[in-house]
Amino acid sequence: MIYLDYAATTPMIDEVITAMLPYQQQFFGNPSSVYAAGRQAKKGLEEAREKVADAIGAQPAEIIFTAGGTEADNLALKGAVAKADPRRRHVITTSIEHHAVLHSAEWLERQGYRVTFLPVDNNGIVSLDALKASLSPETALVSVMLANNEVGTVQPVREVVDIVKAHSRALVHTDAVQGLGKVPVDVEDLGVDMAAFAAHKLGGPKGVGVLYLRSKTSIAPQLHGGGQERGLRSGTPNVAAIVGFGTAAEISASEVAEVSQQLSDIRDRLQESILRAIPDVTVNGAEGPRVPGTLSVCIRGVEGESLLLMLDSKGVAASSGSACASGSLEPSHVLMAMGVSPETAHGSLRLSLGRGSVDLDVKAVVETLRQVVTRLRSIAPRFAKTAS
Ligand SMILES: *Cc1c(COP(=O)(O)O)cnc(C)c1O
Repeated sequence: MIYLDYAATTPMIDEVITAMLPYQQQFFGNPSSVYAAGRQAKKGLEEAREKVADAIGAQPAEIIFTAGGTEADNLALKGAVAKADPRRRHVITTSIEHHAVLHSAEWLERQGYRVTFLPVDNNGIVSLDALKASLSPETALVSVMLANNEVGTVQPVREVVDIVKAHSRALVHTDAVQGLGKVPVDVEDLGVDMAAFAAHKLGGPKGVGVLYLRSKTSIAPQLHGGGQERGLRSGTPNVAAIVGFGTAAEISASEVAEVSQQLSDIRDRLQESILRAIPDVTVNGAEGPRVPGTLSVCIRGVEGESLLLMLDSKGVAASSGSACASGSLEPSHVLMAMGVSPETAHGSLRLSLGRGSVDLDVKAVVETLRQVVTRLRSIAPRFAKTAS
């Protein structure tokens, strides 16, 4: 199999599995227990907290472990507005967020909050003018993702923070799940109050995430129970997975510069070869800054789902963009927000690279794609008509 869906999830790095194993076996204790097995688990937990903190430029006390990126985003949005001054019932986010943020924002809307969904330009970059215009004294929270999961565009999060902090006391959250491991992430440089991360996007295990919460920032817990994670995320922590996250964060922070350069070269070669080999293809977000390794294209005259199935039958695993949106006939909300027509968006394909792609056979991938597209177009009467 040629795996080209690293933005959906990644295989675990060998060292991550090795680091986790003892915590599935001899160090199985509950980290809240006082006896030795508990203390060993606690030690693993706290070492992982330090590693994740180091990888993002935070203090260990600013790290809250959750059960994934989705939970971290939910905690940020719901927890921040619940703790805000009750007169501040306005939330600002963007129209291209991952569903973890988008659907949380829509839920807040149903609870009576006013939510502004900022527009983006044709490259998928958020409008800072629209942000300035929509900030108000009632704004409690601004949430702008660091890197988009469908097209890979990197948002000007630092500028967002500067604008928000100059005009209001609103908190700023960033969904940085697609940033960590792909671009250097430093929460101090970004200046955000909160940031969400997920281990499985950088070679760690699934089902573990982090909410970075700047010290002295106060949010309301969304889970009530034993008061773990300083009362902000009750529930016995998944120690083995957290240890795996620590190792994955450490490894990816140490290699991010080198791997990123390699992946962005491969992505560019892939992009050029596709454009050369297949007519009527457009690249989404081509002019914006993009994370290395993410390539989103729209292929006219093919339907995304058929394309994915045929690619799969030839051993190529890819995505139409968002894992959650695929399977539905709704065109991607991200591409819609970027002004792509629904018809074009139906032919979207996301190829995303990771650590295992450094020796990708670009030629073979492009040839497979060319064959599949030719076949699909030959049986698509509508394309035959418009193309002639
Ligand atoms: C994958 C992803 C999430 C969700 O993380 P999970 O750990 O899968 O819940 C959130 N935001 C972005 C941008 C993602 O890519």
